[in-house]
Amino acid sequence: MFELPSILRAPELLDKALGRASKATAKGRDYEERTRNLGIAKVQVAGHTLESTLEAYVKGFPSLDKLPPFYRELVDVLVDRGKLKKHLGAAGWAAGKCADVTRDYARRMGRAPLKDLPALRREAVGRLSSIVNQVSKDLDALVEARIALRRLPSIDPELPTIVVAGYPNVGKSAFVAAVSTGKPKVAEYPFTTQGVTVGHFERDRRRIQILDTPGLLDRPMEKRNKIERQAVAALAHLADVVLFLLDPSETCGFPLEAQMRLLESVQATFPGVPVVVAENKVDLVRPESTRPKVSALTGEGVLEVLDLLLEKVTSRGPAGAPR
Ligand code: GDP
Repeated sequence: MFELPSILRAPELLDKALGRASKATAKGRDYEERTRNLGIAKVQVAGHTLESTLEAYVKGFPSLDKLPPFYRELVDVLVDRGKLKKHLGAAGWAAGKCADVTRDYARRMGRAPLKDLPALRREAVGRLSSIVNQVSKDLDALVEARIALRRLPSIDPELPTIVVAGYPNVGKSAFVAAVSTGKPKVAEYPFTTQGVTVGHFERDRRRIQILDTPGLLDRPMEKRNKIERQAVAALAHLADVVLFLLDPSETCGFPLEAQMRLLESVQATFPGVPVVVAENKVDLVRPESTRPKVSALTGEGVLEVLDLLLEKVTSRGPAGAPR
């Protein structure tokens, strides 16, 4: 989801800056001027490398307060937003400090006697290193936060979204595959080992997203731990409509009665989100009920169910609007 800059820890960052500094070159009319300019250039290259690298970290992290609610909910499980802000603040502080020190020493080296230049250069490098070392823990934390945030799934919170629920083996992934253009992709989703399957299709020139969430909406909510509940709560921000699939053939291995209880539990989890209930596998069993009927296997009824879902999406207004 996020293109986060790769972050160097303090020792690597200093290596990078000093490595570049050692390759600095300078011109001058005579030996003295060349020597002086080279000394200054080394400090400047080191300082500017540190400054621009640290600044890129600050700019590269997404503005966490502006994230759509779906992602904010997930980010809150993954990282402490308050602390992350402090770490970014520290990196920004260090960038500014490196710029100050660089400017200060470049000025002093421009005026000092030639014999004092090596000592001044060492002093400047010492000051720069100490600034970076002061934020070493912050850089470590940014490295960790980046690893955590990169696990966020590539789900577009702006697209109208259908979330499919129902017990395992009722045909959720078969349905998603049946309606999606192209092969649905599996996106990593924090706290579930199985990820989330994301499919897309177009209808009336609108791009719609359909999600299958193995492990999240396929068993009673009471059985979840806090983090799983938060992962489910994040889905509630995303879902414009839930498709709950029943398997009246019970070939999924769950009696219809248990499936109906799960339906109630899912409805309670997504208050305010319309739930369309459809009976799948009608090629096997065709119950006498008024519920929409579909077979993800043969394709029968799939378009009709999609129409029902899209009606609900449309009536909820533009996706991404505050609810
Ligand atoms: P999920 O766990 O809910 O995602 O279920 P799957 O989509 O993996 O389907 C479970 C099994 O049911 C698979 O063997 C599918 O081929 C089968 N299945 C899914 N939909 C239908 C259907 O409409 N009719 C029949 N006969 N089998 C189906």
